Amino acid sequence: MNNLKNTESDEPIVMADRYDAIIIGAGISGMYQLHRLRKLGLGVRVFEAGDGVGGTWYWNRYPGARFDSESYSYGYSFSEELLQEWDWQEHFSAQPETLRYLNFVADKFDLRKDIELGTRITRATFNEQDRYWEVQSESGNRARAEFLITAIGPISVPTMPNIDGVESFQGEAYHTGKWPHHTVDFKDKRVGIIGTGATGVQVIQEVAKTVGHLTVFQRRPNFCAPLHNSPIDEATQRKIKGSYPEIFKRCRESHGAFLHKTDSRAALEVSAEEREVFYEKLYSEPGFGIWMGNFRDILVTQEANDTITDFVSRKIRERVSDPVIAEKLVPKDHGFGTRRVPLETNYYEVYNQDNVLLVDISETPIHNISRKGIVTSIREYEFDIIIYATGFDAITGAFDKIDIQGVNGQTLKEKWIDGPSTYLGLQTAGFPNLLTLVGPHNAATFCNIPRCIEQNVDWVTDLIRFMRDNNLHYIVPTQEAEESWTEHVFETAEGLLFTKVDSWFMGVNRNLPHKLKRRFLLYAGGAPAYRERCDAVAANGYEGFLLE
Ligand code: NAP
Repeated sequence: MNNLKNTESDEPIVMADRYDAIIIGAGISGMYQLHRLRKLGLGVRVFEAGDGVGGTWYWNRYPGARFDSESYSYGYSFSEELLQEWDWQEHFSAQPETLRYLNFVADKFDLRKDIELGTRITRATFNEQDRYWEVQSESGNRARAEFLITAIGPISVPTMPNIDGVESFQGEAYHTGKWPHHTVDFKDKRVGIIGTGATGVQVIQEVAKTVGHLTVFQRRPNFCAPLHNSPIDEATQRKIKGSYPEIFKRCRESHGAFLHKTDSRAALEVSAEEREVFYEKLYSEPGFGIWMGNFRDILVTQEANDTITDFVSRKIRERVSDPVIAEKLVPKDHGFGTRRVPLETNYYEVYNQDNVLLVDISETPIHNISRKGIVTSIREYEFDIIIYATGFDAITGAFDKIDIQGVNGQTLKEKWIDGPSTYLGLQTAGFPNLLTLVGPHNAATFCNIPRCIEQNVDWVTDLIRFMRDNNLHYIVPTQEAEESWTEHVFETAEGLLFTKVDSWFMGVNRNLPHKLKRRFLLYAGGAPAYRERCDAVAANGYEGFLLE
């Protein structure tokens, strides 16, 4: 904390403590925002809770963590030099390589000098009279800036399960989102894992390779599909580097900014045989094609969804030898793609191993965690290591962790108590000059995230340039613009099957008492429509905002 002054001490705040912009978070969005604002000539300071840059990829260093997006569609696109310099090793990069990449970016663009690591911001207050934000860190130090930009991530606050006795376990215990920096050895160990979301699936298939004995506690299964990862050979590397403009164009044109574009046909428009051939093709291809490149109506029409749900259910039954276990792994409470589809590599085959046990806790619920392990309604399972892959307080959790006070002392937490309301997912009324990258109701929440992050950051940078050019120092959305955007956000979700299912998309986290009710937290209108809307707002002199 070199550049913050402690206002509790005798030393008064001096001009040097005041920046043009403060960014909270040095993940993918915070780093790029820093780069762009510095190029505008602004004095910028980034405060980052971790001891390194990289955000998600700094914290989620659990075994098996890797992209579900093609690596070359995920990296930053803003620098041709960076694109040509960096060689992705695999089509779907693993966490260590991604973290290396982000560190490479930090060095290449000399970002570190403006990033303060190990500094968790716990409070941010808007000074109405002088129109600046003051942030305060966990250790009580403060800094001020005209603009406050949150780059705190949509899935960055891990949640532990609300199970009695979590603290009493005497062995090693880890949440995947706070994985330690040392290697965890599973050889000859008895390991228990709770959670079978995208994270659980990745960690289970990796741990199963070396573990002594693994027990998976599954509450609800998810529909998973094969990732089909492979190394990138030299010829492919050259091809990738020669085709970045097309790669990013394809991403720009697709709904979720992935390389996979929705098929224009409806599922029932084609014969059952043709559908089967198409599904087989999607199942055998790498990445999210089966989710994002499928028939246009599989996430909208129940009959269409039933066809792909039936196909993937059959695949699970084919891959798992024991029909009773296979049945437990086939979701019955939701259709394919209505929750986030985990991509996997031999995940289902793990359950054919003699040293792997699946405990269906919807049948035999977990009663408590004991000193020795996990106790269900019928018995105690003893472990050396327990892994919690129990998810996150998604989208709003990172905001709730900071006491953000806007005009008239209103806190953001109070304002959003019944669900967030925003304008473009980038600002909220009553909180002037606060810009929320990847905030709630922003397309970036349901996107191949770096693609939408770049859009968010470019838009914010253009806004700040516009304000500088026009000697404007205050921006806040009007109440009307916010209400109309929030209504539009809900309209984008209307008719989508995933609104009928509990998941973090719908703001549900059963471990958190304030997150038991479904509330739509994302933006489902698609990245291209969102970009158009943001561009139109800018082209019309930032309509919907009050600027002074
Ligand atoms: P998640 O999807 O919320 O899954 C959490 C899992 O823990 C669920 O299986 C949940 O069961 C279980 N669980 C939670 N509390 C429990 C309790 N008290 N008792 C028993 N089980 C409990 O979280 P996640 O897997 O960490 O994934 C979150 C998101 O991160 C993903 O959707 C994805 O967007 C992102 N992610 C991306 C990648 C990638 O790009 N490759 C990898 C990992 C994660 P229920 O389903 O019954 O609630």
